[in-house]
Amino acid sequence: MIDYLNLHKINAPYEARIKQAVANTIDSGWYLFGHEVSSFEKEWAVYCGVDHCVACANGLDALRIVLRAWIEMGKLNVGDEIIVPANTYIASILAVSDNGLIPVPIEPDPYTYLIDAQKIEASLSPKTKAILPVHLYGQMCDMTAIMNIAKAHNLLVLEDCAQSHGASNRLLGDAQAHSFYPGKNLGALGDAGAVTTNDVELATIIRQLAFYGSSEKYIHRFKGLNSRMDEIQAAILRVKLHDLDNCNHRRQEIAGRYDKEIINPFITLPAKKNNHVYHIYPILCEYRDYLQSFLKEKGIMTQIHYPIAPHKQVAYKEWNHLSFPVTERLAARELSLPCNQSMTDDDISMVIDAVNSFKRNE
Ligand SMILES: *Cc1c(COP(=O)(O)O)cnc(C)c1O
Repeated sequence: MIDYLNLHKINAPYEARIKQAVANTIDSGWYLFGHEVSSFEKEWAVYCGVDHCVACANGLDALRIVLRAWIEMGKLNVGDEIIVPANTYIASILAVSDNGLIPVPIEPDPYTYLIDAQKIEASLSPKTKAILPVHLYGQMCDMTAIMNIAKAHNLLVLEDCAQSHGASNRLLGDAQAHSFYPGKNLGALGDAGAVTTNDVELATIIRQLAFYGSSEKYIHRFKGLNSRMDEIQAAILRVKLHDLDNCNHRRQEIAGRYDKEIINPFITLPAKKNNHVYHIYPILCEYRDYLQSFLKEKGIMTQIHYPIAPHKQVAYKEWNHLSFPVTERLAARELSLPCNQSMTDDDISMVIDAVNSFKRNE
């Protein structure tokens, strides 16, 4: 069988080093705010080509805390509108709502599935104060176009990099949110997240917000929260970070074979326009659910990212009547093929052969 993503296999190459790193952390007796987290913060900032990194508990918190910090800094106000992609994972949008800000969903480009920069400009209102591009599936959004719009209209830009580790070492937005959820390209063995930014004041406020709004012990400047990365997770991430580029390179090789060798009139392959690290390899098929069970019978496991768009969720009842045709078409047709470094060349060939043998009436 070919798993969609087998985390045991993904972590197996590092098992000895991870166990050693965890044992060292246990022995140190120091479990939060220690050497591992501060070292990981420095290493991740360098890897991203950004001045500052603040570790936190998960990717959703990373997004929430940046927006919260901008509110504390007076750059955003409750009720401001934030542009978000309509077809993102719901976390990007929850972070906006959670801060009393108003998410404004925008349709994606039908070929790259990334937020359509041209549509951003058409949706701006006097209340629009920020753009939240998501580098969905591992491909970078058109950040040059997005930054030009942001500059022209004085908007903040928060990039959701949860799926795009390593896709760019020139991050252009005002801040970036990262998730190290176990299934991401760089995954911890539990929850972890981080914010990166070149803005030293923002980094300082984020660090305080994530620690009860405190600047020094028992002195509280903000009504903050508690969001931190464990030493153990940081130690594990440091082991795996060394190999991230190799892993991404292997994903790109697999995607390259899919691009070239999948030939089936019932299937649309993803378009690559910008740097892509293939967190997900999304194909489209009008008969998606049949295709998924057809592949399952052949022992190939797939996933759907995402079957129900945020505007169709009960959590966003107020949007249920809205229509986003490109997003809805993606939700109905998208299927994610296995695409990760634990696959062998034979696994890849099996996926290709199985997909190529699919016919509409199967
Ligand atoms: C995974 C993910 C998140 C949330 O990350 P967590 O660490 O699970 O909180 C946010 N946005 C996107 C696009 C994601 O894929």
